[in-house]
Amino acid sequence: MSVLVIIPAAGSGTRFGGDIPKQFQPIAGKPMVQYVVERFLLSGLVERIVVAVSEALLTTVRQAPGDRVQFVAGGETRQQSVMNAFKAAGEDFDVVAVHDAVRPFFRMPTFEALLDAAREFGGALPALPLIDTIHATRDGRLAATVDRTNLVAAQTPQVFRYDVLRDALERAIAEGFDGTDEAGVAARYGYDVRVVAGDPHNIKITRPEDLALAQTHFEEWSSEG
Ligand code: C5P
Repeated sequence: MSVLVIIPAAGSGTRFGGDIPKQFQPIAGKPMVQYVVERFLLSGLVERIVVAVSEALLTTVRQAPGDRVQFVAGGETRQQSVMNAFKAAGEDFDVVAVHDAVRPFFRMPTFEALLDAAREFGGALPALPLIDTIHATRDGRLAATVDRTNLVAAQTPQVFRYDVLRDALERAIAEGFDGTDEAGVAARYGYDVRVVAGDPHNIKITRPEDLALAQTHFEEWSSEG
């Protein structure tokens, strides 16, 4: 099985604040996106990693060692960044995984379970059941309580058979639909996207306090198993 990994890392990180986007903040002494790339490189199945970064950064990023890593310019939205990376990679892959640059704590056993499920069914994502009660609000007041029975919070890596992701992205572009993740886009076009148990440590580093928490728990959360 040949696996392509796409890492969208072209966000401006506006929710994070500060000058450096969150995906370039340090984890274990390295920019987060570099740490994520190196973790994927440990998998023998990963043939190529394409990282989408902002146009401004593209001229300054150093090419990572080896020929398995490639940088491309991202787009205005996450989906456009993923599409740019997908096009740049070429076609010689069985499976594609898309992983947020800001989730440094994904684990290999989960990745492997996702690869198996995607090959069998077409697509797979890790997700967690919602723990908190979810309310809809209007003008700062509670309007309705949402039934959370069938709700899950999506994580990455999200994995697809190559042809599934290509078709889903092309149809989304043709329709002018911009999804917030690829699993949602694939499901929208009728593909079977399976839910695999996510990991509470695989957090999306979004706010400064997430980064502080991640740095404190780095050793524990990054361990395999
Ligand atoms: O903004 P959000 O946290 O949802 O971003 C998820 C991932 O998508 C991040 O790794 C971010 O850098 C990336 N992204 C991108 N291109 C954009 C917007 C977000 O690659 N235009």
